[in-house]
Formats: sequence, C-alpha cells, structure tokens
Amino acid sequence: MRIDIVTIFPKMVEAPLAEGIVGRAIAGGLIDVRVHDLRDFTTDRHRVVDDMPFGGGPGMVLKPEPLFAAVDAIVAQRSPEGRPYAVILTSPDGERLTHRVAERLSRQDHLVILCGRYEGVDERVRQHLATETISIGDYVLSGGELPALVIVDAVARLVPGVVGDQASVSGDTFARDGLLDFPQYTRPAEFRGLQVPPVLLSGHHADIEKWRRAQALERTREHRPDLLNKEKTP
Ligand code: SAM
Repeated sequence: MRIDIVTIFPKMVEAPLAEGIVGRAIAGGLIDVRVHDLRDFTTDRHRVVDDMPFGGGPGMVLKPEPLFAAVDAIVAQRSPEGRPYAVILTSPDGERLTHRVAERLSRQDHLVILCGRYEGVDERVRQHLATETISIGDYVLSGGELPALVIVDAVARLVPGVVGDQASVSGDTFARDGLLDFPQYTRPAEFRGLQVPPVLLSGHHADIEKWRRAQALERTREHRPDLLNKEKTP
C-alpha cells in the first residue's frame, strides 16, 4: 500500500513515521509512505499556501491551487491500471474514523491524505478533490498532521504482515465482534498484594477463552453499551 501525506509541516509527520510498528513496516517495504511539503506545489516566489477568507472573518484558509497541484502530481506517478485509491481530507466535520473505516481504507491500494491548517481548506478541495473527509474525533486540533498519523497507524496495522502476529490485530478492541478488549495481565502473578485472576494461571484454554469473552462483554456493557447493539452489524 502506498500513502502520500501533504502538509505544510513535513517534519511533524516524518519523525513519528520512523518509529515503532509503522517505522518497521516502512523500512521493510510493506507500506510506502511519502511526505510532501505543500509549499513545493506553489508557483509564487514566497511559496504562499494560504489566503484570507472571502466574506471576511478571522484566520486564513489553505488555497486550492497547491493542494490540487500536489494531488495531480501524486496521482500522475500512479501506474495506469488505476487500482483503487482515496484522497482523504482531514477535517473535524468529516466521517468519524472507526475500526470499520480503517478496514475499508486498508483495502485501498493508495491513500493520499491532505492536512488542513488555520481555518481549514478552500471548500473546492472538499467538493472536487477529496474523495472523502475524515475526522478523528469531536474536538478541533490545530492541523491535520496528527489526524494523518492516526489514520496511517490505524490503517497500517490492518495491512497483512505489518503486525507480526495477525491474531493480535484480530483480537484487538473493536475487531473481535466489535467488542472492547478483555483485560491483560503479565508477570508477576502477585504485585503489591494484587493478584492476577486465577483462571489465567490455570492453563485451561477453554476456561480462559470463556473468561475473556465474559470480561470483554462486561467491559463493553459498562463503557460502550452502544457497541453491543452493533455487535452483529457487518
Ligand atoms: N475551522 C475549522 C472548523 O471549525 O471545522 C477547524 C480548522 S482546524 C483549526 C485546522 C485543520 O486541522 C483542519 O482543516 C483539519 O485538517 C485539522 N483537524 C482539526 N481537528 C481535526 C479532527 N478532529 N479530525 C481531523 N482533522 C482535524
């Protein structure tokens, strides 16, 4: 899978992409992530990417020309057979990023992620360039760089081979029947008088599985009852 990120702050995304599971996946060639400086797609001497909003109001708006030029250049590098790709505009009013959305995106061949800044981006980008708009939650961040990293991480984990043990991904919160994950413990079995549930030390795999399922259900009922109603939804 290839992912292109377009931003005015490339360094803000490059450093985190070099670390952890995503860093290893990139180094190992499982995903190809490229970061582009939006200013490289300007044509004026001052490399201007923003302008005042028509109609007045506070702040600045990202201009359409550099964003369209960046996507045109990225798409032009694609092989002509045109496998599926998405151009994602990050925005707090977009579709909420969920496990299901990450799964859908992980089936794409190529993602282009546009990072907004300031008051946002010219609406023509959303209407005529982006194929979808994604929010990572109901709060406003200063820019789309952190959302882009969240999208890359959530999607990359679902690309086969990126997480060494696939069972670890399929058992995660939201992935296993849409439930929250069960509690995890590691050694020591007793710490400051706090015991690990005895069933986990029993060696009875069927009992352990039953306990974990019950815990996952209880945790979901307590913290995210809304997910239980969706449990059977594909
Ligand atoms: N004026 C915009 C509004 O009220 O919706 C907020 C713009 S925000 C300060 C600047 C940029 O940060 C946005 O264009 C978007 O790219 C990104 N952003 C902020 N919050 C986000 C969120 N929750 N999810 C995705 N992107 C977000």
